[in-house]
Amino acid sequence: MLGLMSDQQLLISSLIEHSGKYHGQTEIVDCDNDGKIYKTNYSDTLVRVKKLANSLKNLNVNLGDTIGTLAWSNLRHLELYYGVSGIGAICHTINPRLFKEQIIYIINDAKNKLLFVDLDFFDLVVEISNEINTVEHIVVLGKKEDIPNKKNISKKVIAYEDLIENVNALNEWPIFSEKTASSLCYTSGTTGNPKGVLYSHRSTLIHTIAAANPDSFNLSSLDVIMPIAPMFHANAWGIPYVATMIGAKLVLPGRHLDGKSIYNLLEREKVTFTAAVPTIWLMLFQFLETEKKKLNHLKSCAIGGSACPKVMIENFAEKHDVNVIHAWGMTETSPLGTVNRPLNKHKEFTKEQKYELATKQGRPVYGVDIKIKDDERNDLPRDGKTAGNLWVKGPWICKGYMNIIESDVHTKDGWFLTGDVANIDEDGYMQITDRVKDVIKSGGEWISTIEIENITVAHPKVKEAAVIGVKHKKWDERPLLLVVKSEEVSKEEVYEFLADKIAKWWMPDDILFLNELPHTATGKIRKVDLKTKYLNYLIN
Ligand code: ADP
Repeated sequence: MLGLMSDQQLLISSLIEHSGKYHGQTEIVDCDNDGKIYKTNYSDTLVRVKKLANSLKNLNVNLGDTIGTLAWSNLRHLELYYGVSGIGAICHTINPRLFKEQIIYIINDAKNKLLFVDLDFFDLVVEISNEINTVEHIVVLGKKEDIPNKKNISKKVIAYEDLIENVNALNEWPIFSEKTASSLCYTSGTTGNPKGVLYSHRSTLIHTIAAANPDSFNLSSLDVIMPIAPMFHANAWGIPYVATMIGAKLVLPGRHLDGKSIYNLLEREKVTFTAAVPTIWLMLFQFLETEKKKLNHLKSCAIGGSACPKVMIENFAEKHDVNVIHAWGMTETSPLGTVNRPLNKHKEFTKEQKYELATKQGRPVYGVDIKIKDDERNDLPRDGKTAGNLWVKGPWICKGYMNIIESDVHTKDGWFLTGDVANIDEDGYMQITDRVKDVIKSGGEWISTIEIENITVAHPKVKEAAVIGVKHKKWDERPLLLVVKSEEVSKEEVYEFLADKIAKWWMPDDILFLNELPHTATGKIRKVDLKTKYLNYLIN
């Protein structure tokens, strides 16, 4: 017997419809490319989104068409999130920091029909316009007068504001199955080609509700939310959807993510919650230290994408009274997988115990399940020590990649092999020890690069650190530590600092000081490059 409750489909259009109707006057703050601030609200944004939806229909955009975006985190990008998926098309957010060849590849793989681009990326699009055959028109996110006159572009170029201006707002959102694809995001493809992860309306809405809840990001309409994780990276971790659902003031930081710009926005807009990868916070802390500034409004900050070192959690708490919410996820997991929140029994923990616990990547939010297995796919114990391949499952976890029929990382019963190595403790707290491809196997034993890195960056004169496995005659592989200093420090000092904190056989065979470390398009340390460069360092 079926239940007698409404079959109303979970559609993304309902988010903006709700906030337009019930949080109409709540502000949305937009920063343009020159850092100028523009303020609007959910009510006016809903009207613009509905105009965009109609103009897309006029451009013959239909259910299932993919629409590419190459844009920073800004208002027009937000409008595209809702306007495109609202009519059943797919909002394909492209990471502009990928290599040109990868951008061409994913536009073609996704068969983008239209491409919406920020002015900053217009030159790039002109350059590749002959190689992106499915794209019919380019829409520049601005006014007609903003568009530079380029003769050598083979596609029709339209100004976004013209689309919005010359059209009526859509009356009613179309209704279709909640299983319909809504947005598309490619993994950054550090190995092989990027792979398309295709979210659905249903997965997005359930993820949105889960992300807002108290044991996740704990957000409500009283918050002021600024996603720093870019809108082209796993939908800014789903945070724009959350802000819209709860009707919180939303601050979109645009392209300037340096310490000073971020600090100014956090203070001026009284942001209470933000989210980004650790590299962003390194830049912010550097600014705060040199300028002797304090964060006065921020209450909590989600950190993920790479492991958050304990020293960062301490700095946020002790110096700025900000609670770090350490989270783990992937493009394939929408991205929220686990969130580090204390349990009732942790109430009595000392500060030190709390910080220690917070360095773990957290427990699965309701909906997600995790497990660790060995290479032969045998289950491993949840003892907080044994490390194995991390698997994940849930309604917002991908079950395959776009245009790829056979996948050896998905099982029929819904589990996904993440490529991360982790341990899980009795309470379900998961700790990432490495990515499979970064793990160091020294004489058959595993050494966690993340753990050594986290300990190293706690040295007050160290800014950033990376550990890589390099070839060794006797042990196959040994750790090499690469350090970027914040102040003058010697190799001996670093060794001394590590001495009582890591096992002797984990001690890096050498330490090199570099001016900077290379980062991926999503702000992680690009270890493949370092490995290629230093692979033979110990055997030469
Ligand atoms: P990309 O590889 O394109 O940057 P993702 O954003 O999907 O793509 O990256 C997901 C990976 O980031 C995870 O598999 C994991 O290795 C790493 N990661 C994410 N969050 C954390 C975290 N809190 N601690 C350690 N690693 C993390």
